[in-house]
Amino acid sequence: MTTCKVCSLNSEHPGISVDTAGLCNLCRLDIAGDLLVNYRYTSNVFHEFQHEKPNPDAPYDCLFMYSGGKDSTYMLDKFVNEYGKRVLAYTFDVPFESTHAADNIRLAREKIAADFVLDSDDVNIKKVMREVFNRPAPARPGSYLDEKLPCASCRTFFVLRAILHAFREGIPYVAMCADPQQILTMESNVREVVRGFYQSFGDRLTDEVFRGELEQVLFAEDDELPKIVFPFIAMRHEYDPDQIVAELKAKGLYESSPLETHCTLFPLLNYYAFKHWDCMFYKLNAASHVRAVKRSATGTERSTFSIKFPQVLNIVEIEEQLRRVTLQIAAGEGDRGEHLRELVSIFRGFDADEAAARFVAESFVDMPKVAADVGIRLP
Ligand SMILES: [Zn+2]
Repeated sequence: MTTCKVCSLNSEHPGISVDTAGLCNLCRLDIAGDLLVNYRYTSNVFHEFQHEKPNPDAPYDCLFMYSGGKDSTYMLDKFVNEYGKRVLAYTFDVPFESTHAADNIRLAREKIAADFVLDSDDVNIKKVMREVFNRPAPARPGSYLDEKLPCASCRTFFVLRAILHAFREGIPYVAMCADPQQILTMESNVREVVRGFYQSFGDRLTDEVFRGELEQVLFAEDDELPKIVFPFIAMRHEYDPDQIVAELKAKGLYESSPLETHCTLFPLLNYYAFKHWDCMFYKLNAASHVRAVKRSATGTERSTFSIKFPQVLNIVEIEEQLRRVTLQIAAGEGDRGEHLRELVSIFRGFDADEAAARFVAESFVDMPKVAADVGIRLP
């Protein structure tokens, strides 16, 4: 195993190779070509969407995937009030998210002239997560972002629910506020998203959790299918989270919370990444932060990710600590109080304040409870 001398990613990490000079393919930017193709495609679709005339046959110009977080609230307001689109704001209630976004959704419903719909399917999204976590070890060497497969599968599940909703109602576009890293695992073509799910989960489970409806998407004509637009990726150079929050507050559209959303599966996502890929869940984000800091002399580069990383972060050491505690908790070993103390100090190292660090630490020691509730087997 070789470790990249810039960002600390190692050669065993899915999708990563380290050359003889000690640089990984991300630090060498080997994937820049793929990214550019994706960016060009998404920019073109977004441009086409912005200039599209309203379709008289459809009640809406787009279905907008609305989480209630700051990014999607900001963009929803822009779609309706700046671009003049007729928007169906679609929120999927993810059962694993303890959400503090409900207040923002209420404000948006009062102040933004869109229609709102709330969707949920606890039974089937849990079935999918059980399958991802409980299946045998994934094939080696794996590809980029494989260590985040459970997280990506959850997102793909509700993206497919949204696509089906748009498909049924003849809505031509589905808008998603994904960040640039997500687009590498998120296909822009809806048929490819559907195919990818069939490939990962097989015909039987896919037809079961989507009640056979997805098959119609595979065999539909191109012009019957919605297109996915990624507004933040098309406008990536303008992304400024502080300005977004300031603008939303001025419009009375945002009630800030330090923990905007928290996924109760976060500890299990780390367990999955350690168990199968020997890395923590946020490894790529941490590595990309280190890369950005080492590249820019000032070290003040912005990150679009939800966890902030301190300027000097010893990833290798923190990851080792987190690995030990996570695997102990999963195995039912060790002392709860000691785990809590150690976890709080780890998350303090991620720039979290005391309350946030404690909140996340407690979710880690509660991992066996969450696993039992969803039906995920621990060793
Ligand atoms: Zn590197």
